[in-house]
Amino acid sequence: MAIMNIHTDNEFRLRFKDLWRLIGNSPLLVINFRYKGQNRTIYAKAEHYNITGSIKDRMALYILEKAYHDGKIKAEDTIVEATSGNTGIAFAAIGRALGHNVRIVMPDWMSKERIDIIKSLGAKIIPISKEQGGFLGSIELSEKIAAEEPDIFLPRQFSNEANALAHERTTGPEIWCQLTYHGIIPDAFVAGVGTGGTVMGVGRFLKQMKPGIKIHPLEPSESPTMSTGHKVGSHRIQGISDEFIPALIKLDELDSIVAVPDGDSILMAQKLAKQLGLAVGISSGANFLGALQIQNAMGSESNVVTVFADCNKKYLSTDLMREEPVKAGYESTDVELINFRVYKRVCDNCCDMFGCELKPYTRVK
Ligand code: PMP
Repeated sequence: MAIMNIHTDNEFRLRFKDLWRLIGNSPLLVINFRYKGQNRTIYAKAEHYNITGSIKDRMALYILEKAYHDGKIKAEDTIVEATSGNTGIAFAAIGRALGHNVRIVMPDWMSKERIDIIKSLGAKIIPISKEQGGFLGSIELSEKIAAEEPDIFLPRQFSNEANALAHERTTGPEIWCQLTYHGIIPDAFVAGVGTGGTVMGVGRFLKQMKPGIKIHPLEPSESPTMSTGHKVGSHRIQGISDEFIPALIKLDELDSIVAVPDGDSILMAQKLAKQLGLAVGISSGANFLGALQIQNAMGSESNVVTVFADCNKKYLSTDLMREEPVKAGYESTDVELINFRVYKRVCDNCCDMFGCELKPYTRVK
């Protein structure tokens, strides 16, 4: 059932332009803190500002816009995607806004909030147990559905280059605009890897602007899939390290892999909420600590940027809401959060993806 058919180029343009007004151009948080007595600052994009509350809205909208632009999706198509949660929420909402039915294939151990949000948006959930193959089983089933049923559109977030391109065209330029407007040049970018779209896309844009910038992918210490090449252990940082190295990740384009313990990430996310009122998800705690590790290596004055991928509301039934034991080697205990400022300069490129070219940004060495 298609509520809204896109018949003309103008309808296409207007429809997506409207949706881009609800997605992207997120504020950049300038977080001031003390670490072992030193004054420090780390920059983080507040991605819960997107329509469904996560960074995945960017790639969902970009993939659908590109599919319409390239004639790869029809109005009557059902969108089917394998996802650990935020992507499902993004496709469920944006898919509906465009008139599509949506089916989400998902491991059955994801938080109850994620499942209920997807259902509330009218999408159908197909739960996959560990015995049925977990995450990889979810991807296999989505491919099987597309092979066997008519009128199916598969976004294929793990291998679709449009996922990384979404961040190369929006998140990366926004970070560059928001920092350089204030005279700040980033030295490094750190991001936890789910599909790898964020780290690859932002990395590619920032490298065009400043070839010497460091781009670090992040993974949980308990489950170092990228470092070992295969699934190891389990972890509690939902949204990252999903059992395999995604096809989008090109480790030879990236700098060293950063590892952060899940318990420390939970403590850091709790601290950001309790001390600064920044109610972020567990991967945001991990990203903050990853950025801190890189800042420790590059120097306390270095400008390290990361993303807060979502807020804490999807984790109210998880360990994020419980008391987390402090273990030896944790860094969050040495972080004394002071306050934050907000940079909200709007990047002009992010509302009309196929109607404009990237502006000639000022590059640096
Ligand atoms: N954090 C959270 C909470 C996520 O849902 C995701 C996406 N799975 C990520 C981080 C990682 O983003 P990406 O897929 O772009 O690597």
